[in-house]
Amino acid sequence: MEVIDFHTHLLKKEMLNPTALNFLEEVNPAFFAKIEDFGDNPGLFAMYLKTQGVSYAVVLPEYAPATSSFVSTEEVLEYCRGQDGLLPFASLNPNTHPDLATRLEFYVKDCEVRGLKLLPSYQFFYPNEARLYPLYGKAQELRIPVVFHVGSSIFKGTRIKYCDPIYLDDVAVDFPDLKIVMAHSGRGFWYDQCFFLSRLHKNIFMDITGLPPQNLLNYFPELEKNGEKVIFGSDWPPMPTDIRENIEAIKSLPLSDRTIEAILYKNAYRLLFE
Ligand SMILES: [Zn+2]
Repeated sequence: MEVIDFHTHLLKKEMLNPTALNFLEEVNPAFFAKIEDFGDNPGLFAMYLKTQGVSYAVVLPEYAPATSSFVSTEEVLEYCRGQDGLLPFASLNPNTHPDLATRLEFYVKDCEVRGLKLLPSYQFFYPNEARLYPLYGKAQELRIPVVFHVGSSIFKGTRIKYCDPIYLDDVAVDFPDLKIVMAHSGRGFWYDQCFFLSRLHKNIFMDITGLPPQNLLNYFPELEKNGEKVIFGSDWPPMPTDIRENIEAIKSLPLSDRTIEAILYKNAYRLLFE
């Protein structure tokens, strides 16, 4: 079975917000060894993915200097260039990047960006604000997925209110063909809301990044009913295990083969390539 990892990060120590850096050094020291090995070596990452059984990986920038990191779209484009299977996304910050829609169009048409990541709690905006609408219109026209961070946000200075998935209800209604992905599926206290919204709206998907895969059915007891909407992501590199361990944990859940294949490959394929 082929696998797409819909959620990996390019991270480098010098691109982390200093407070976030100190926090990570405290809670996850192993993470720094990984970013030292892989941060400047995309070839090594591409090879690693093959050993984990991953055919394609989305590589996310994260431009949120006030809270988490300042990894730019350009940095990710450079990292993915010429690497088989690495799919670059863009990161735009609605409070600091002007002309969001024009910039997105440039990234997609001229730089082969495959999607967009937005971080409401780290970048401080509500997803249903009118100023974002030209950007969503452009993403819809370009048929690229837009990934929203939806769930707990641990870095200092974060404003978690912006992550409430209810604001995506407006976006889904106003842009019925926009491919909306809720990264982390509401991790913390919005699991039911995310599940409900992704069943209600044909254009809302849930990415299960960062959730211990063996516990998925505790968070979403009726996961099987929503098999066409759930997407696998690992959150590499801060995750504590190898990617393959998460894939194996998903394969051993009491779900149909059809749903497991949809989660690990087909749903992401539809979003990225159709
Ligand atoms: Zn992430």
